[in-house]
Amino acid sequence: GPRSAHLKVRNLAAGYGPFLVLRGVTFEVKPGLTVILGPNGAGKTTLLRALNGLIPRQGEVLLDGEDLPEKTHEIVRGGIALVAEGRQLFPQMTVLENLELGGWLVAKAERAARIERVMNDFPKLRERARQLAGTMSGGEQQMVAVARAMMSAPRLLMLDEPSLGLAPRMVDELLAIARRIADAGTTVLMVEQNVKKALHVADRGYVLERGALVASGPAKLLARSTIVREAYLGAG
Ligand code: ATP
Repeated sequence: GPRSAHLKVRNLAAGYGPFLVLRGVTFEVKPGLTVILGPNGAGKTTLLRALNGLIPRQGEVLLDGEDLPEKTHEIVRGGIALVAEGRQLFPQMTVLENLELGGWLVAKAERAARIERVMNDFPKLRERARQLAGTMSGGEQQMVAVARAMMSAPRLLMLDEPSLGLAPRMVDELLAIARRIADAGTTVLMVEQNVKKALHVADRGYVLERGALVASGPAKLLARSTIVREAYLGAG
């Protein structure tokens, strides 16, 4: 679609103070749904933080051929949205108010139109518009967080473990939402622990271990690869 972004990352390095987590990470995110897999502590969250300007980074990051800005608000204006782990909703505010906050960049009339569009895409949220976000189930809250991110009409949406802590049926629903968003033309980059299900819905995948990429490819091939089968799917 016309809004799909293409991200190219070369030699990315990032970490915390003197502690480097990522070294020389080179990869690209094409239109569609890309998943990043890897064990706890591999640096997946750190990667998303670096790409969203939440921690300093080194290396080259190009969004549709242009240097990605370093400040978070400029990155958001550039068309990237992040749904961080833990969702970070405002629990004492309603679903609608949370969505309105996701549209802080746009004028009021446009914001109303976007809320209407998001409510159409997430019909469950229309029913719950007046409910306090903090009183919703984990899966419903994750849905609000994704919907709120879509309020900025991003060209590239990043999701950090959208299925974390959810019941299997909600995991399927959240992954289906990610797939739908990608099919509708927003490029999606998703970190997931749910390897089998993630590779089932994704187009492409990368495996990150100890701060470096160790495997990549089309999701269907990756699911059959020795490295993924042995380390992540419990098969020999
Ligand atoms: P998980 O799935 O457990 O979140 P991850 O692959 O997302 O794992 P990161 O959260 O990126 O891994 O962590 C990578 C490394 O960076 C770990 O060794 C972690 O302890 C360290 N780390 C993460 N956040 C910080 C921080 N704020 N300060 C210092 N070190 C950190």
